[in-house]
Amino acid sequence: MKIDWRKNNSLTHFFYLCPQCDLISEISIENFLEEKIHQKVGIKSEKLEEAIKKGTIKFYHSLNIPTLQFKKGLGKIEEGTVIYLTNNIQVIRGFPKIRRTLLLSPSLENYFPDQVAVEEKMNGYNVRLACLECESDSKDDITIIALTRGGYICPFTTKKAQELMDLSTFFQDNPDLVLCGEMVGTANPYVSHHYEEIGNLGFRVFDIRQKLTNQPLSLDKKRKLLEDYGLPVVRLYGIFPVKEASEKIKEIIKQIGLENREGVVMKQPEMELSPLKYTSSQAHNREIKYAFNFPFDFGRAFFFSRVIREGFQAYEMEDSPEELRKRAQRMGESIIYPMLKIIQDIAEGDSAIEDTIIEVDNQDEAEEFMRHLHDLGVSAVLEDYNDGKAVIRRIHQSTNDKIRNYLKGGLY
Ligand code: ATP
Ligand code: MG
Repeated sequence: MKIDWRKNNSLTHFFYLCPQCDLISEISIENFLEEKIHQKVGIKSEKLEEAIKKGTIKFYHSLNIPTLQFKKGLGKIEEGTVIYLTNNIQVIRGFPKIRRTLLLSPSLENYFPDQVAVEEKMNGYNVRLACLECESDSKDDITIIALTRGGYICPFTTKKAQELMDLSTFFQDNPDLVLCGEMVGTANPYVSHHYEEIGNLGFRVFDIRQKLTNQPLSLDKKRKLLEDYGLPVVRLYGIFPVKEASEKIKEIIKQIGLENREGVVMKQPEMELSPLKYTSSQAHNREIKYAFNFPFDFGRAFFFSRVIREGFQAYEMEDSPEELRKRAQRMGESIIYPMLKIIQDIAEGDSAIEDTIIEVDNQDEAEEFMRHLHDLGVSAVLEDYNDGKAVIRRIHQSTNDKIRNYLKGGLY
């Protein structure tokens, strides 16, 4: 029997309409959670209810489907997981956090038993592509969605991903898989980074996972499947015996840094262990530099953690005195220059703002995207729309307010 979920304002009950008998019934979310969701994800209904009441799981309608979104992890279920309450409950698990190593040696030998696959870590934003069974879909018509990190369907990414890649055959054949990848390039509203081979916008898949269990495919299977469907995969630098990996990665990371790329993700080829990440000095500095344009809008932990990464990298890379001086200089410049510039700008009456240009089909689409950004809590306005180009202006309010105050003589 098909169930058509109807919205109810209360958080404790749903209405549903049975299309066969046209009867609307009301069921309590408690029963629903107990019967169906518990079986699927193994979380007790009381725990789920408690989380919904606390707001760590959000309940709302997305694509007209009642949806549970995990704002925080619960038990084994990661933050960013979404559960669509259709006839067949559909679960798309959150993308797991990747831990960082500050040193390659001895960390890699301690962590990996045998071999280490070194993939490029691309600097963009995390996207999960999946297909969703919607009640209105016919057999060969599936709905493909793009979820960003927290589990929101992003309208911009959903559209662009399908323009960039032919996803329908993959998802028709593999409805239970999720393509996890990075949206990269300069023309996106989240993380702008120039890659020679990408230009404006591109997508690179780095993992393929099972929807419900989050189990990743092995590196071999992933690469083979992506090749079969003509889908773009991240660069693989090589698979090394763990004893050689640190030395190899040192060389790779130096090169990556010189090319203004971000870093590497190290994976056990079978994907039974969680991956680790490691990044280049240039990437640390680029982020520090960016954040010091808006110093009061980034938490202190943001700066501290990047300085720590540089400290350990300087130790391990055994820089010559000259190289070490360059590393130190790079960091100092990444702090002072952008900060001085923003203080000068604000002193001259400018504001701490950041413009990004994205390509859209029309003004409505640009406005829909702005609504999405506001739902995410981002402070931004549509500054301009002209001929398919939308200028999105982010406003860094704390930086504006604090710097203005100090310039007027306010005390720190
Ligand atoms: P989080 O670890 O929670 O995503 P973060 O913002 O600190 O937070 P990053 O430091 O960018 O994340 O590192 C992890 C992210 O790197 C992944 O979430 C993924 O989006 C991205 N990434 C890029 N390339 C790869 C890759 N080859 N394999 C896995 N992840 C990759
Ligand atoms: Mg990243």
